[in-house]
Amino acid sequence: MIHHMRIAAALLLLLAFSFAPVQAQSSAPQLIAPGVWFFLGDSHKGYSNTVVIEMADYLIVVDANYPGRARELIAEMPKLSPKPVRYVFDTHAHGDHSYGNSLWTAAGATTIAYSGVLKDMDRYEPLRWQAAVKGREDVRSLHQDNVEQPKQTFTKSPFILQDSTREVDFEYLGWGHTPGDGYVWLPKERILCTGDAAVNGPRNRLGDANLANWPRALAKALRLKPVHVLPGHGDAGGPGILVGQRHFLLDLYQAVAKQAHEGKTPEQMNIQLPSRDENWIPKDLLRDVKVVYAEVTQHQPAGALPHDFQ
Ligand SMILES: [Zn+2]
Repeated sequence: MIHHMRIAAALLLLLAFSFAPVQAQSSAPQLIAPGVWFFLGDSHKGYSNTVVIEMADYLIVVDANYPGRARELIAEMPKLSPKPVRYVFDTHAHGDHSYGNSLWTAAGATTIAYSGVLKDMDRYEPLRWQAAVKGREDVRSLHQDNVEQPKQTFTKSPFILQDSTREVDFEYLGWGHTPGDGYVWLPKERILCTGDAAVNGPRNRLGDANLANWPRALAKALRLKPVHVLPGHGDAGGPGILVGQRHFLLDLYQAVAKQAHEGKTPEQMNIQLPSRDENWIPKDLLRDVKVVYAEVTQHQPAGALPHDFQ
């Protein structure tokens, strides 16, 4: 009897879990430290994550996101704090992080990024914007011809905002996911926002990357000794996200380089990555293999080569 009850209880538990959402969608923000909130972006809508940092007199938002999400977030801000959003930091030029820029500036904020983000936008836009207009209602709804570039940039890293409550460092650690990659570092709270330089899960695109240098940038990020790592996509966590992203990139690069030197094309390769990379291996690994192969065989960062992918 007890045995049957146990089985019934186990079944109930199983049932409860099978109906639980795999990943919370546009759910309540997670409080990482007093005045620091992490919003998980809805991956089905292509949204990135967002971090909100409260200063003495204003808020900082990390990543403008797509317009649809920017609108939702702008409506969410008064629930967090009556303070205005003064800065919106674009971690990089990709649309899921920057295409909402004009909505934030219309709401009174200053968009800011590392200067490399402007160069990336100059290189890839308005081509990618035009593609997004075709594919996304929220981008179309803005009736713009191009992304609104960040209003303020910095070239000397770190660019520091400081007041009585905390210090916020905007960091450039080198070309990884994109040439313009920026990080946001809170030294007191040991919180690092990485954009897509580190993501939690198989959620990255490598097309604009410098695959040889990316692990070096992540090693620099690890040297900050963060306790909390808030990635551009996937759940928040600790430094393991940086370690895992770095290992995946190193292992992938090494495996592809080895087989490329044996004369194999990406389609002929059999890439077996160690189990430590599991969380980062995408369903379509061949796409990543092709990008690494291009970099290895053409002796230039993949992102410096002509490419029409991200
Ligand atoms: Zn992204």
